[in-house]
Amino acid sequence: MSLRAKRLISTLWPRDDASPRRVVLLYHAVGSGPLATDAAAFQQQMAWIAAHAQPLSLDDLVSGKGTHPLQVAVTFDDGYESVFSRAAPVMRRHAVPGAVYVNTGWVEEDGRRRASDAAQGHYRDEAFMIWNEVIALAAQGWMIGSHGVEHLDLTTMPITRVHQELQQSRAAIEQRTGKGCAHFAYTWGRYDSRVVQALRASGYRYATSTMHAPLSSRDDPYLIPRIDIRPQYGIDDFAAIMQGRWDFLRWIQQGRRTIRLLRGAKAAA
Ligand SMILES: [Zn+2]
Repeated sequence: MSLRAKRLISTLWPRDDASPRRVVLLYHAVGSGPLATDAAAFQQQMAWIAAHAQPLSLDDLVSGKGTHPLQVAVTFDDGYESVFSRAAPVMRRHAVPGAVYVNTGWVEEDGRRRASDAAQGHYRDEAFMIWNEVIALAAQGWMIGSHGVEHLDLTTMPITRVHQELQQSRAAIEQRTGKGCAHFAYTWGRYDSRVVQALRASGYRYATSTMHAPLSSRDDPYLIPRIDIRPQYGIDDFAAIMQGRWDFLRWIQQGRRTIRLLRGAKAAA
């Protein structure tokens, strides 16, 4: 859906009056990459959160520890280098806790020999964090979650590979950070009951999706919704999103998912 259409519908859609409103935001990269959020825009958004909302760690948000009418947790997918070098310093200044889901197969010891690969679903022209940076974020209180070993659509993988991806990535994160890894973010945003079952069996307690919605007490802990903050959104868009004026996107996403499932069922029949 075009940015113009989103903006138009948002002027008609009511703000979300639920209190508290709890939202998890999704970012990828900050800086000069072709798909990255501009550093000044990111700074403005974190300042907005500090001024108008209560920033919380994902665990505190999910377990209901917040006290403010608007509660926010900030997360990143894929583990790009700019999370460490650009996002984390800004967030520290505004006292915004962070979470990052890494692909352990792309975290190198040093050197950054591998750039991101768009064919794998990465953001274009980004570098990844190295282990020392991941460990430093964990020491600063960041939650380090898993996004798999490789950036795979797990719904298309044999079950033995799914288990391997979930277990190996979790073990690597726990061994490096010395902290438990209970969080997973669905790669490509794709999940099905088989992947959720494998998550449970592998010791994960939470998983985040890319459904544009606030948290509800009825949410399945393995389907925590997350609001994708795209680089082209301005600060007015950001404020409107935080107030729930873009929550109509959820119904569009759910409609698309239903159509995809029906097509799959038809193809299988
Ligand atoms: Zn990803």
